Amino acid sequence: MSTSPRPDATFAELGLPVALVQTLRNAGIEKPFPIQAATIGDALAGRDVLGRGPTGSGKTLAFGLPMLTRLTGASAKPGRPRGLVLVPTRELATQIERALDEAALSLGLRVASVVGGAPIKRQADRLARGVDLLIATPGRLDDLIKQRAADLSDVMITALDEADHMADMGFLPQVTRLLDRTPKDGQRLLFSATLDGDVDKLVKRYLNNPVTHSTAPAEASVTTMTHHLLYVRDKNIKRTVATEIAARDGLTIMFVRTKHGADRLAKQLRGAGVDAGSLHGGKAQNNRVRTLAAFADGSVPVLVTTDVAARGIHIDGVSLVVHFDPPAEHKAYLHRAGRTARAGEDGVVVTLVTDEERKDVAAMTRKAGVQTDGVEVRPGDRKLVEITGARKPSGIALAAPAPTQVNAPKSANGGRPRRGRSGGAPASEAAQGHSRGAGAPRRERPAGESRSRKPAGAGGHARSGDTPTNSRRRAARPAAPAARRNRSAN
Ligand code: AMP
Repeated sequence: MSTSPRPDATFAELGLPVALVQTLRNAGIEKPFPIQAATIGDALAGRDVLGRGPTGSGKTLAFGLPMLTRLTGASAKPGRPRGLVLVPTRELATQIERALDEAALSLGLRVASVVGGAPIKRQADRLARGVDLLIATPGRLDDLIKQRAADLSDVMITALDEADHMADMGFLPQVTRLLDRTPKDGQRLLFSATLDGDVDKLVKRYLNNPVTHSTAPAEASVTTMTHHLLYVRDKNIKRTVATEIAARDGLTIMFVRTKHGADRLAKQLRGAGVDAGSLHGGKAQNNRVRTLAAFADGSVPVLVTTDVAARGIHIDGVSLVVHFDPPAEHKAYLHRAGRTARAGEDGVVVTLVTDEERKDVAAMTRKAGVQTDGVEVRPGDRKLVEITGARKPSGIALAAPAPTQVNAPKSANGGRPRRGRSGGAPASEAAQGHSRGAGAPRRERPAGESRSRKPAGAGGHARSGDTPTNSRRRAARPAAPAARRNRSAN
């Protein structure tokens, strides 16, 4: 039975310690999101929890805060974490570590992440110094255990985040092996955007009489998100339309099918004067970290990526998601779309659909439960401008991105925008009267102010745990340690 908290309960009323509540408040996080209000009490009471919420709903704190609270008051022995979070990708691991960093500090706990693609020796050394809450991708943790650098026998609470993604990526054998190494009577929290198929097998095998909290149906139910199908006659028109969309004001993610396709589109956009980075599993990890950081701080406003970035990753203020290539299936559509309209913000999702793709895309969006309108667009169309804020790019080619340096600072240009934008009326003007269009006014940031340094509670949604201290530390933190720490499975 669930403790059924009041939906309007405060973090303190849910049972979180004062120090934690204060740290959250400093970060501008005052009121629990629904999934947090629904699950924190049960998790604190030691119950196994099965939670489903839409992406961006605040799942990280929903499992992270009760985990930290339950770990408080004791200390991990070398190589023996007491709490474990398993995640599918290196980026998500780093994101969760950052989100919980300050909260852990306030409780005197040590948090670390271990992911592939980084020197394992350094991670073994970190574990040897004692880690209370370990965030890991399954493969690397498996390796560390084989090397006897990690032992899971003291793990009293385990969280699986994006469990469906781990299942889809074929991680279940490793995940089950790891869970088998944790104490049988340990507490387990399983969070996922969707709870079906293989996730169900995990639930049956590892969760003991779980309370289930679902704060949303499986369909795309984020009311601040609008969806459009943009019909483009052929591939050439599609590329020109995509370039005009990319030249808009605001952060844009473009999803493509293949790694090669991501590189090609990013190159094409830079050739037209739009600063774009490409991110996919074929890139070196330090390159991935730098690309994400430059996108997050706004210095490179367009991210062209494969489905590697479709899940879990949270970047503030992504106002438009473009399916440049339609996704393979409806779940991928929802995950990709979930990169926008996060934490209550507005967001627009458009799919570029060629004539021959129309039938498949219509079936897929129906399955995704998405209400879409379809409209024919050509370069320069008023409708295209209204929906996406598209505009003509400068046409002045930008240089290829600088070669990746392992020790380069997070934002090599100090956070200054270095985009080659065309002048002309801002997209927001062109989109007047369409407040839900992606071209609608966005929050302006003074030049040089990093997105990640935006004070929490100042009209936006800061990352969790994003206190001024934490943010300053992060802004000053070189990319290299993160680069060394990370490798996701794809
Ligand atoms: P998540 O779904 O965990 O990736 O969280 C999405 C975003 O919502 C992150 O930037 C969090 O910092 C933010 N967030 C989570 N919980 C709250 C809350 N209770 N109040 C305000 N922002 C929050």
